Parts: sequence; structure tokens; C-alpha cells
Amino acid sequence: MEHLLSFSHRCGADPDLVLAGGGNTSLKENGVLTVKSSGCSLADIRADQFVRMDLEALRAIVNKTYPHDDKSREALFLADVNAARLPGETRRPSVEALLHALFSQRYVLHLHPALVNGLTCGRFGARAAAKLFPEALWVPACRPGYTLARLLADRLTPEVTTVLLQNHGVFFAAETEDGLYALLDRMLQILAAHVGRPLPPENALPPADLSRPFTPDHIVYCGLGPSLPDTENARLLYRDACKILFYCQSFGGPHPLRRDLIRFITNWEAESYRKKQG
Ligand SMILES: [Zn+2]
Repeated sequence: MEHLLSFSHRCGADPDLVLAGGGNTSLKENGVLTVKSSGCSLADIRADQFVRMDLEALRAIVNKTYPHDDKSREALFLADVNAARLPGETRRPSVEALLHALFSQRYVLHLHPALVNGLTCGRFGARAAAKLFPEALWVPACRPGYTLARLLADRLTPEVTTVLLQNHGVFFAAETEDGLYALLDRMLQILAAHVGRPLPPENALPPADLSRPFTPDHIVYCGLGPSLPDTENARLLYRDACKILFYCQSFGGPHPLRRDLIRFITNWEAESYRKKQG
């Protein structure tokens, strides 16, 4: 637990890695998954803001079939995820708790750094990822939560330590805290070298188009335009979108979220829950 708290705090304190509480962490120990709860901030998360879950019960959910309709599927999935919590747990686990469970490694770290999302939101992101990170799995943009976990269920062999999610972010998995940092640092170094020029000062960043968001976080905090909500998180996430726009010029130019995914995120109860907590 100490290590889980220390790497959560360390990543959460770095604005290049975590904005507005985005990202999540987990630990597996003796058949229990301890995962960040939804809507709290990694930078100052406390032990009681993690949710302890029955690892086996959680993993079993990936083999269930749910209705095709978004609303019914997400409601049933949420009920099953909540039922996999250990007795006495009342917090809502991260929307990606199931995916955390499917990795075999002890520690999992999920982040949305702008530098990484320059790659995942670039038009030629998949091609660049195959060249720069041949060991990583690349997942084309899809619905988060159950759909994402289901897509990856048969591909997460114990050798997989890195998963790049198009228009979303990255997952790292390792047996030790140092192993996670090594994966993260290596990726950031390779990407910085590929981009090959420093991020310009804020007033020289390209302006992002709010009607064409890059990731779910941009929809949750910035809305879909034409103007930015007057909150600190909205300003942070808007600047993040501008940074992604700068970085993705090194990966074929911008590839915004698909329209059907924008619609799904906009109507997703799990995201409006997260926004309310933040
Ligand atoms: Zn995420």
C-alpha cells in the first residue's frame, strides 16, 4: 500500500502527467485489487480513497455478455463492478478497474500525458507507435470501461507491460514501483527525442478546437464549445488540448475523437459522476 500511495502521489504531483485528477493506479495483493476510486485526485489521494475489490470476481465480469444498447450495458456493468467490491467498500472504483484487474502484474499505472497523447491523437499514431514502441499494444479508439477491457481481455499476456490507447492515454504494468517509472521515463524520453523541439511557451501554443476534442477528459472538463467553462480544470484541460495539438504535428497532425465516441462520452453516466466528484 505504501508503494501504491507513493507512486500515485509522485505522478499526481507532476502536471505533465496528471491533470484534474485524471489517471489512476492499482495494486494486486493476495487476490485483492486495490484501485483508485473515481473522481479523486492522485496528487493527494489517501489510503481510504482506494477501493478494495475481489480480483477473481472482477476478472469474471469480462466473460459476461451485456445488451448492445449503451445505457443498459453500462448500468448492468456498473452494478457488477460494484458487486465485486470487498464487504464494507462504498466508494465507486475507477471506470477502468476491470482493465487494471486483467493485467497480471502487481502494479498498474494509467495516465494521459500530453506528450503521449500527441502520439495517440496523431493521424499516423498507430504507425509511429509500431516503430517507436514495438513491444506495446496499440488499441484503436473505443468506448472506455467494459468495451475497452473486453477488447483487451485475450491480448493481455504477462509479457505485455504497455498499452497505448488511441485518443485516450497509456497503461503501464510492472511488478515493482521502479519498474513502472522505468517504463514511463523510457516512453517520455523516446517521444521527446522524436518530437525533437521543446514545447513553446503557453501564449505561442496552437489554439485547440473545442468542437473537436481529442480525449474523453477534454469533453468532460471543456465541454464541446464554442466557449470554455469558467473553471480552473477547464483551463487546465484546454491548455492540455493545445499541447497535444502541438505534439501531434510530429505524428501526422491531429486525429480528434470519433463523433460516435463523443456522443457516448457526452451521455455516459460514469463521466458525469466523475465530473461531479472533481
Ligand atoms: Zn483514462
